Amino acid sequence: MNNKTIYLCAISNIESGTCNEDCKFCAQSVKYKADIERYKRKDIDTIVEDAKKASANQAVGFCLVTAGKGLTDKRLEFVARTAHAVKKQNLGLKIIACNGTASLEQLKELKKAGVDNYNHNLETSREFYPQIVTTHTWDERYETCENVHRADLKLISGGIFGLGESDENRISMIKSIASLKPMNVPINFFHPNKALPLVENSIDKKKAFELIKLVKKMNPDSHKIMVAGGRELMFGEDQYRIFEYGANAVVIGDYLTTKGNAAHKDIEMLEKNGYKIATVCSQ
Ligand code: SF4
Repeated sequence: MNNKTIYLCAISNIESGTCNEDCKFCAQSVKYKADIERYKRKDIDTIVEDAKKASANQAVGFCLVTAGKGLTDKRLEFVARTAHAVKKQNLGLKIIACNGTASLEQLKELKKAGVDNYNHNLETSREFYPQIVTTHTWDERYETCENVHRADLKLISGGIFGLGESDENRISMIKSIASLKPMNVPINFFHPNKALPLVENSIDKKKAFELIKLVKKMNPDSHKIMVAGGRELMFGEDQYRIFEYGANAVVIGDYLTTKGNAAHKDIEMLEKNGYKIATVCSQ
């Protein structure tokens, strides 16, 4: 029995698979023609229902994710209206927006609409980034993260492992994340898709556990180390051991374009392993 508290966060993909960027790990890029659901804007009533489901599944965070390089005026207006509609439900959820690169003014607008936190991942190291993405720069990503602080939103920033990066690249990325002092650090493990230019994940389970530990060690003041995409695929039956290595948060339910465990299965397994599920999140 242990008393570690685990935080659950749910995702709603509110605009899916319509992105013109070329991130080699992402099925949402139109360039790779992956077989995923694609739509422009999810209906706001449906998103509110997603939020209610998230709350019923004990999530403390609810993340509004849009595909695309960043916020445009139209997208900003849509996300702001959505955040406002979810906030009005008083579900006790922290609202997280994850909408790519954003200016200080745009982020301030989101804050006004009720968004609490902004998620923008560095994805990989500055040095390795040009091998993974050619349509925008890593520096733009870093700048958005700095804007999040300036807008007085809480920053959530992490990355993805298994893209063929070296150990040096991994350390460089984690150092950059740490330099931003994010409140939460999401870690993703690449989920291969045959339509993508990257066909396999370059790390194994042992390495993945070590990386969680390293992320935690190098970000000691971050409130949450969250294992997000790729958890089930990378860790299989050992997936609840991630908490022994420093993780204290997971995504519950489905991911952006891949299925997750059924929420009730995660909840049962967390309880069976003696973890407490957080009922509120102050951060
Ligand atoms: S990671 Fe974001 S910017 Fe890159 S292709 Fe996917 S949706 Fe577009």
